[in-house]
Amino acid sequence: MEPYPRYITPGFKPFDPLELARKTEEITCQGDLKKYSKFLCAGVYQGISTGYTVGCCLRCIFCWVNWSRDFPEKGMDFYSPQQVFKKLVFYAKKKNVPRLRISGGEPTLGKEHLLKVLDLVNTTDYLFILETNGILFGYDRDYVSKLKKHKNVYIRLCLKAGTPEGFEKRTGAKGDFFELPYLGIKNLMEENLKFHVACMNDPALMPDSENQIMKKKLKKLGYFDYLEEEFCDPYYTSVQRLEKAGYHIFNQKNRD
Ligand code: SF4
Repeated sequence: MEPYPRYITPGFKPFDPLELARKTEEITCQGDLKKYSKFLCAGVYQGISTGYTVGCCLRCIFCWVNWSRDFPEKGMDFYSPQQVFKKLVFYAKKKNVPRLRISGGEPTLGKEHLLKVLDLVNTTDYLFILETNGILFGYDRDYVSKLKKHKNVYIRLCLKAGTPEGFEKRTGAKGDFFELPYLGIKNLMEENLKFHVACMNDPALMPDSENQIMKKKLKKLGYFDYLEEEFCDPYYTSVQRLEKAGYHIFNQKNRD
């Protein structure tokens, strides 16, 4: 059996992200319970009540998430959808913010759990911002379709690459699966959901030629809306993961 993929190091063996999604769900989900590390109100989006979930199906070299992404079996507590909803609302009320989200990992892992949380959010006026890497939305059209009834969900799908080679290099997942997030965008458009596309196209990580290919692909898909272009920030875990993967971009950025 293949070992569970952790952070990327030079010479790593690319993995199947769908298989990693399944393996991670085995570790982080029990029925409709899911592992979380903490809940708080974060400063982004002008204040958003956030549940930090555990685990992802990618291994991005620039990822800021704590080490629970790579070692989801360690510690953390399981929460029911009702407990998560209560915590999210508690912190939203405490800081008087109208937005909720699940971050700290890939929120779409644990379909049953997420859909139940969203059912509860749907009984309120809160806006739920669903940040995703789009892998499962490309693979599972039914998942996307089931989000239609959740009127107060807004999706932010973040692309990591414009080519299979870039995808493999920066996420650790096999290049064969590179189209899944684009398929996710197609599914979101066809289901008429509210969303926008973000991309980690920091020039220190993505060559301009790949950036252009990514933008052309989006146009070809019929996506002409807002494209949120991200820069890689020097969070402690991002720097550590980049260094372990053999990238020293912050030294270079500091020199420029
Ligand atoms: S950046 Fe997002 S998609 Fe990539 S490994 Fe981190 S949590 Fe997963």
